[in-house]
Amino acid sequence: MPSDIANLRNIGIIAHIDAGKTTVTERMLYLSGAKHRVGRVDHGTTDTDDDPEEQERGITIFSACVKFHWGDYNINLLDTPGHVDFTAEVERCLRVLDGAVVVFSAREGVEAQSETVWRQADRYDVPRIVFINKLDREGANFEKVLQQIGPRLNGKPIPIQIPVGLGPAHTSDPFRGVIDLIEMKMLEFDPESEGKKVSTVEIPEDQMDDATIWREQLLESVYELSEEAMQLAMEEKPVPPEMIRAALRQGCLTRQIQPLVCGSALHGMGVQPLLDAVGNYLPSPADRPPVKGIIPNKPDSEIERAPSEKEPFCGLVFKILPAKTGDNYWIRIYSGQLKQNSRVHVPNRDKKENIAQLWQIHASKKERDGQIDQVNAGDICCVIGPRWAITGDTVCDTRDQIELPSIKFAEAVLSMAIE
Ligand code: GDP
Repeated sequence: MPSDIANLRNIGIIAHIDAGKTTVTERMLYLSGAKHRVGRVDHGTTDTDDDPEEQERGITIFSACVKFHWGDYNINLLDTPGHVDFTAEVERCLRVLDGAVVVFSAREGVEAQSETVWRQADRYDVPRIVFINKLDREGANFEKVLQQIGPRLNGKPIPIQIPVGLGPAHTSDPFRGVIDLIEMKMLEFDPESEGKKVSTVEIPEDQMDDATIWREQLLESVYELSEEAMQLAMEEKPVPPEMIRAALRQGCLTRQIQPLVCGSALHGMGVQPLLDAVGNYLPSPADRPPVKGIIPNKPDSEIERAPSEKEPFCGLVFKILPAKTGDNYWIRIYSGQLKQNSRVHVPNRDKKENIAQLWQIHASKKERDGQIDQVNAGDICCVIGPRWAITGDTVCDTRDQIELPSIKFAEAVLSMAIE
């Protein structure tokens, strides 16, 4: 598997509770081959919800991070809680991820918690793509949700797909596929295949007029984002799909727009194109700006670290999970490399820590025991050995020190309450 930083995606899925975040996660793990069966929220068999308390309450409390592969991409998926009581948990995830998938239910549309998580993502400048889920449900309304995102969230979603049919299988015109507006093809889903089988077919004749109007709207947005595309349009030349994708990617990274895809996660339909969109549009760690911090004990100083292996090591502890074999410290590495059997510094406590073991938690069972020697800039790993650091602390090179801003939970919760 390629280990290039450009192919790495640190993502989270954020949503109002019940929009389908856990179901989307399960489908991603299944379709990527990381899991051989689909966990069902309703049966209490999901991997990300592996805490008994979570299963009992049917809501995701803790943020675990799993790694899986999709095509050329290595994806670190941070599971973010969707319940209003865990706003601080969402904040801590947003701090360490690079991009997010925002899931909306096609029936319920923009809900109270969607507004909260959207604003949190705004605060942390997180680029995002939108997934309109539950298109197979009675009363699903794709356009209504799309029209809510602009005014209610101040978003600019750009559909790169539109649904073919809406509602459950037993109805006359059920949801059965999407039209890819970039390639101008229909992707037909086979619900019996749990989302694995996607056939690319010609756009049905009766959908062509609609598809053409949506594509024109897409191209209008692309012209605003890309002078090159605009130039081609003025010369009445076709804009190649690669140029459309590059413009949308740039628009997404700069947070001007949110590419939008849709489907029905329960049946796996639309989740493969969603994974493609994660790779195509969300940033790699290298696309994110350098992190800023201070020289320890010099509050007026300002230094930064670029997302490169050549920089001195720095990272942030974003989660500590107690374990019998040694507490698990989850660390986002911003620069340099973290090596097994090395020592790192915790500047705000002036303590040194031992990196006794380094782990990456792969979603697939066969890779679960993923102990490794070193982890590079941009990646996320689990460390056993530290004793002093707490959540929100910086860990860094013992000589070349930097202290990053901590995760301020009290402030996060307070500001959400005020909003
Ligand atoms: P979360 O709270 O956002 O994690 O949402 P869940 O993934 O737990 O889903 C909430 C409920 O919606 C569960 O009963 C799911 O089975 C159901 N659900 C999720 N996605 C879909 C979908 O695409 N179609 C339908 N019909 N139900 C879905």
